[in-house]
Amino acid sequence: MRGARTLETFLRDFGRDHQRRRGPNREGTRVRVGVDVGGTHLRVEAFDDDWKSVERLKIRVRDDMSPAGVAGQIKSALEGFSGIESLGVGLAGQMSADGSMVYNAPNLGWRNVAFKAELSTLLGLGSDRLAVVNDLNAVLWGEYVAGAAKGATDVLAAWVGSGVGGAIIADGRLVIGAGGKAGELGHVKVVVGGRRCGCGQDGCVEAYAGGVHLEKQVYALAAEHGLPGFEDPNAIDLALVDSQYRDVAVWTELWEKNTSYLALAIANALTVLNPSLLLLGGGVLENLENFRDLTLRKVVPLVLDAAREDLRIAFGELGDGAGTLGAAALSLQP
Ligand SMILES: [Zn+2]
Repeated sequence: MRGARTLETFLRDFGRDHQRRRGPNREGTRVRVGVDVGGTHLRVEAFDDDWKSVERLKIRVRDDMSPAGVAGQIKSALEGFSGIESLGVGLAGQMSADGSMVYNAPNLGWRNVAFKAELSTLLGLGSDRLAVVNDLNAVLWGEYVAGAAKGATDVLAAWVGSGVGGAIIADGRLVIGAGGKAGELGHVKVVVGGRRCGCGQDGCVEAYAGGVHLEKQVYALAAEHGLPGFEDPNAIDLALVDSQYRDVAVWTELWEKNTSYLALAIANALTVLNPSLLLLGGGVLENLENFRDLTLRKVVPLVLDAAREDLRIAFGELGDGAGTLGAAALSLQP
């Protein structure tokens, strides 16, 4: 398990081991290709048998993000790639366990879309060589195959960015759940009858600790208390709040409260799952130093003692490459 360590050494060493890989370009190699469909960019990356990156492409998405529009953009992006053995596509959303149906992809505005069949037809690629997967499952699988989670058979991934996401590996297998929706860490309830979440329910941890909701809370509190620098709701600087956390009582209270909720959600998941690795990522945890450290210092005491003994903590190592690698690797799963 490269990159795994105790909490203290993790906090001390944070930031030293982020890295990116770029393999040699080998002509004629059979490749597995992963696609990460983001809100602004489409990332496409081809890997050889050893999961070395042999070709990588990042293109800005076009306006048409309908299923047909995205399928068309993937087809165009793949034109320069040859020898494709299999293709995995990761996107943010909830989907059926076999990936055939995307139930809900809020960022794309999709509901109940049979995207895999549409893509299979358009590309002329058999469905046995094609996978459509949740993007965070792809990230965790990528880190498991070739990154920070390599060698760990039981992993909880907690990603805190604009939202809060989770993914689980248990006994060396990705945990999908009966309906494909396992690992929804962001919608674990931490306050009964609490803040309204984007999922439509109340009191989810994402409604407190997700970046979008942090910005909303900061904006409202700054207005209420007359704190300068946060007048534009579309340009809330969370790093500024993080830097003022000890000096401004309003921010101290907000950070203490929200990191407690986040720690509670993560710790309870750790108690239930007993993983050997807590894998972390996402802009809020990577960029907001005080928020991250507060969260992690609160997580450990909340985990059942017996489940804490084997626990190590690491950040993802592969950056953007984790999602494409994981999607490509999942395309080979039966
Ligand atoms: Zn929710």
